[in-house]
Amino acid sequence: MDRVGMVRDLDSLGRIVIPVDIRRRLGIGKHTAMEFWMTESGLIMRRCVGEACILCGELQHLTYFKHAWVCIFCMNELKNKR
Ligand SMILES: [Zn+2]
Repeated sequence: MDRVGMVRDLDSLGRIVIPVDIRRRLGIGKHTAMEFWMTESGLIMRRCVGEACILCGELQHLTYFKHAWVCIFCMNELKNKR
């Protein structure tokens, strides 16, 4: 995770503008659906991909593990790295 070094204030309705440089870099266009993830350290916002493996993007064989979807293939790979 990279800190981008930009600070923005929420407006009176709780909205925030994502700087255009960041939107371009991440391929976020107008009307892109965004989703929010709450973690122990704060809030993560990313382009909505629905339920997909956070490591490889697989859409099937998912299990929910520590606030994220992970596929069984990545789970097995992680288990074998011990
Ligand atoms: Zn995976």
